[in-house]
Amino acid sequence: MTTQWESLANEHILGIAPYEPGKPVEELERELGIHDAIKLASNENPLAPSDRVQQAILAAVPNLNRYPDGSGYYLRQALAKKHDVSPDQVVLGNGSNELIELIVRSFLRPGDEAVVPHPSFVVYPMIVQAAGGIRVMVMLKDHRLDLEAMARAITPMTKIVFIANPNNPTATIVTKDEVAHFMSRLPERTIVVFDEAYIQFALGPDFPETLEYVTQGRKVVVLRTFSKAASLAGLRIGYGVADADCIALMNRIRQPFNVNSLGQVAALAALEDESHTLECVRMIEAGRHYLYDEFNALGVKYVPSRANFILVDVGRSASDIYQRLLKEGVIVRPMTPFGMESALRITVGTPQENRRLVKALRAVLGKSSA
Ligand SMILES: *Cc1c(COP(=O)(O)O)cnc(C)c1O
Repeated sequence: MTTQWESLANEHILGIAPYEPGKPVEELERELGIHDAIKLASNENPLAPSDRVQQAILAAVPNLNRYPDGSGYYLRQALAKKHDVSPDQVVLGNGSNELIELIVRSFLRPGDEAVVPHPSFVVYPMIVQAAGGIRVMVMLKDHRLDLEAMARAITPMTKIVFIANPNNPTATIVTKDEVAHFMSRLPERTIVVFDEAYIQFALGPDFPETLEYVTQGRKVVVLRTFSKAASLAGLRIGYGVADADCIALMNRIRQPFNVNSLGQVAALAALEDESHTLECVRMIEAGRHYLYDEFNALGVKYVPSRANFILVDVGRSASDIYQRLLKEGVIVRPMTPFGMESALRITVGTPQENRRLVKALRAVLGKSSA
């Protein structure tokens, strides 16, 4: 008998379910024979990168025969200046997803525990499991991270705690006061990862300034990304801010050219172009309110959002509604894999896309348009 590939695999990965990305627009259009499908499934920015960013990318194209700057010198300088830290406190990643992996691989030993909220970003437990760590899942409370319960879940074996703020898929935040209380109870040796992918949509006086914990020398890593508000999901670029010693350890295992050159110049140009971010934050905010009103009219319950997506409860089988929305050319995300049988996660789109979603939802839910 021949050897099965699975018997050769690292045993830690065998229990991991493959990540299911949102259905690509092109695939749905091919299936339906249509040309105007919309994707509201992956929390992407519906706006193209700004002209300035596109120009910067085009200007860098002739140099693509060269490897990128492996240290990301200029981008790290700019990010350090923006956040008032030193460049050796900044690490770039192929998306912030790569940084989650670098943190886990740098610090989590097999048998160490990681405290992970649930439901939250599926990448955290996946990477912890692959590293042979133990996932300690802590349920949300009223769709919000339960920092009290997460603090109680910490043991002497806890190496890392993940805090997605805002959380995906619920779009709720934990507040400045809640985080301060949590940090005051946290053992000194426990690393907290604040994943702030959606921070631009969430800002307000109640939102925590987690970079202050880095400055205070706490064991904190703050993750940010250019994938959402900056419209650069396709170029895969994110960054982490932490103590220089922490960053140095992550750099030991980071692939030398992990961030491509177009991503670096695009992110640099995006940093100098705050108006694009402001424009899309305003558009998303208006879109959230439009959708709340329409959901109310349709009798669809939702969780008020501090991000560019909304968790809704359609009151019946979400996978059925998902399938029927697909037939209308609208891709959303069913939350069935999280055990939320009647929930969909819907990314806020352009005003036009939002109207299209509402029309499709009204048709699918069998409501008249009166
Ligand atoms: C979208 C998202 C990210 C961003 O990932 P990138 O790899 O930077 O594209 C990170 N964390 C959460 C919770 C997200 O939803």
